Amino acid sequence: MKRESKGTVEDCLNIDSRTMARSNTFVDGASGIWGWKQDNEISSSMSYEYRHGALILSFMQNGTNHCQHIEVTTTPCHYGNHRYWFICPGNDCGNQVAKLYLVDSQFKCRKCQKLNYLIQQCNKEHVARINMQRMRIKLGWPLDREAIPFLRRVYKPLNKNKKTFQAIVEKHDMYERKANAAAIAFHNAFMDKIEKFIEK
Ligand SMILES: [Zn+2]
Repeated sequence: MKRESKGTVEDCLNIDSRTMARSNTFVDGASGIWGWKQDNEISSSMSYEYRHGALILSFMQNGTNHCQHIEVTTTPCHYGNHRYWFICPGNDCGNQVAKLYLVDSQFKCRKCQKLNYLIQQCNKEHVARINMQRMRIKLGWPLDREAIPFLRRVYKPLNKNKKTFQAIVEKHDMYERKANAAAIAFHNAFMDKIEKFIEK
C-alpha cells in the first residue's frame, strides 16, 4: 500500500461495510484478499478473515506488516434483512460506521482520522478569508489579496486604542495563515485527484 497523507476522505483507502456485506465477507470463517482499484487495476490489497463477528485485516504499509481487528455489528432493516456496521477501533470512539479510512497504518472512522471532505477543505479557506476581510474592514485596510504594506501595520489612532488595534491585527494574521494553509491543503488534495486522470 502506498503512503497516504492525512487530509481529505478522497485521498484515503477505505473499507465500506455495505460493499463488504455484498461480497459475502461477513460470513463466519470467510477469508480472502480485499483489493482497491485505481483506473481499473488493483492498486492495493490486504488479506482478511471474518471470525466471531470481527474482521481481521492483514496488510503491508511502509514496509511493515500490520494486523487489525475490527468488530462488526448489525442493525435490522427492511424485509428481515440487516445492515452491517464497523465499530470504529479508535481510542474511546466505538462509533458504528459504514466506512473506515486508512491513515498511518490504522483503519478508523472519519472523525478519528480527522479527515475532511474535499469541499470542507475548500469551505475552510473561504471562512478564514471572510474573517480575514472582516478584520481588514475594521482596520481600514484594503481588501485586495496583496500583503498589507508594513506602514499600514503601524498603529494609527482611528477610533480604536492601540491594544484593540494590535489585537485585531493579530486576529487578521491568524485568519490569513489559516486561509493560506487551507488553500494549500485544498490545492494538494485537488491535484492528487486530478493527477489520476492525467496519468491515464
Ligand atoms: Zn472513530
